[in-house]
Amino acid sequence: MPLKASCLLLLSCLLLCSADQYQLEAERIMNTTPVIDGHNDLPWQLLKKFNNQLSLESANLTHLQDTHTNIQKLRLGHVGAQFWAAYVPCDTQNKDAVKRTLEQIDVIHRMCHQYPDDFECVTDSAGIQNAFRSRRVASLIGVEGGHSIDSSLAVLRTFYQLGVRYMTLTHSCNTPWADNWLVDTDEEEAVHNGLTGFGKRLIREMNRLGIMVDLAHVSVKTMKDALSISRAPVIFSHSSAYAICKNRRNVPDDVLSQVKETHSLVMVNFYNDYVSCSSKANISQVAEHMDYIKRIAGAEAVGFGGDYDGVSRVPLGLEDVSKYPDLVAELLRRKWTEQDVRGALANNLLRVFQKVEEVRDMMAPEDITPDDVPIAFQDLEGTCRTRYGYPDNGERLQLLPAVLALSVLLKLLL
Ligand SMILES: [Zn+2]
Repeated sequence: MPLKASCLLLLSCLLLCSADQYQLEAERIMNTTPVIDGHNDLPWQLLKKFNNQLSLESANLTHLQDTHTNIQKLRLGHVGAQFWAAYVPCDTQNKDAVKRTLEQIDVIHRMCHQYPDDFECVTDSAGIQNAFRSRRVASLIGVEGGHSIDSSLAVLRTFYQLGVRYMTLTHSCNTPWADNWLVDTDEEEAVHNGLTGFGKRLIREMNRLGIMVDLAHVSVKTMKDALSISRAPVIFSHSSAYAICKNRRNVPDDVLSQVKETHSLVMVNFYNDYVSCSSKANISQVAEHMDYIKRIAGAEAVGFGGDYDGVSRVPLGLEDVSKYPDLVAELLRRKWTEQDVRGALANNLLRVFQKVEEVRDMMAPEDITPDDVPIAFQDLEGTCRTRYGYPDNGERLQLLPAVLALSVLLKLLL
């Protein structure tokens, strides 16, 4: 064999061997530290495809087709914990948002009941670690969008009782108490300039309960307001770096500095449009976002938030939930240390979650009383609401002319 050809052979063998080495290393690390992913929309697919009927033959989650997620793929991807999104679209706001969110919470509970060898519904950081040991996918619930609580702290508390452990403050619509990311584009007007007084009380109530504050989908001002008032670190359950792709769903640099200061977490989104600002993307461009967040906010601030089954386009090489080890291999190729990789996979989220639990425990003795002051009636939107519990100003206003006329008549008579 000529010298040039043998050199080429040796070089390609070296490249191949080193590629395999990163892959093997990724598998080894993920055997003991599987990934905790911040956001998966499988429950939304279950609603759209099966109207949440898990008993249907075609809804078998082990081999589910035409989705990014099924049990087989979760196993291949070393997914150890998943925050399942209890998501209902913004057009349910002021209509049936609460009922539909309850139905999505219910279908997540039923996933755990129907597949007890594969899913374990858990509600705390210790539960995640137990599920790791028993090799089940720890299943947690995130409510995606503040419209789901219909401006009611009572509904928020009830969601907590049902196992909800994060809430995204808005989806792609303003709520009566927070602005969403579209106000930073030309698509919507800012209404509140961040969080209203009620929005700020809501953060305190989330801290008191131990529900993580999720800032994916909110406006930059809402991000900053929440980051500066939350007593516990916050998460971005599925957002990437604005400096790499200038889409307003991503996190800008000044907010990344606040993330660093508060020991918060950005779980990187894989949606092509947020990764490359175009319809196509690849695995190395996702790694670039992770590299960037690591550089600006520290390795402790990076996580995975794939947004699988919530988006139509995912990067080449990250086609479904079985592909996380390939992304981990890419990080190792980029000289991430084992500790940094384990942090991004699971330890960073566990740290944030533990801190949220600690803050909840700290607040308990000092402030036992739940916030029971309802939002002002005039701040609620929608026309079909009853007024129970609120003073009936409407009736009083209707009586006003009669009262005035009576007092004029009395004056004339006297
Ligand atoms: Zn989303």
